[in-house]
Amino acid sequence: MDLMRPVRDALRRHVGVLPNPISRRTAEAQPRIRGANVIISVCPYCAVGCSQLVYAKEGRIIDIEGNPASPINAGTLCPKGAATSGLVDNPLRLTTVKYRPPYGKQWEERPLDWAMERIAERVKATRDTSFEEQDEAGNLVNRTLAIGHLGGATLDNEENYLIKKLFTAGLGIVAVENQARI
Ligand code: SF4
Repeated sequence: MDLMRPVRDALRRHVGVLPNPISRRTAEAQPRIRGANVIISVCPYCAVGCSQLVYAKEGRIIDIEGNPASPINAGTLCPKGAATSGLVDNPLRLTTVKYRPPYGKQWEERPLDWAMERIAERVKATRDTSFEEQDEAGNLVNRTLAIGHLGGATLDNEENYLIKKLFTAGLGIVAVENQARI
């Protein structure tokens, strides 16, 4: 039973057509993607290959959503894929490295290039002193067991491909893993 019907009937009799209860602000609201360019793309993060709609205005990405036309993801994205816009446009992104020297008690800010040089020097020195061409039984192994690598979930397909190619085929590192698989 519609308990409000007598009230509405009385209002119609005395006031006429009921006023629209939507505020002017709500009535004038527009989706922020209105007027944006939309480009069909593919999520960079994993081999599922979900399709994305990338919305851009004035040369800047303003939103990334799942593509409903895709037979793979049918408009959905997992939390990682749904946060893709933060990969390309994030004011909180760190641009320097936090470094704590041996016996140090404070973190220090260092440039990224400094960290890259240091990592490269240490990888080379460790590999030079630990590389094994053969194991104890005389099998050809060409490996180092002294270095490991753990990748993060924000690494994309191409980065993971290059990491595996460099570390395993190039340097002989055996322990190569990604956080997304753990
Ligand atoms: S990371 Fe998520 S959204 Fe991206 S391709 Fe993989 S499953 Fe799809």
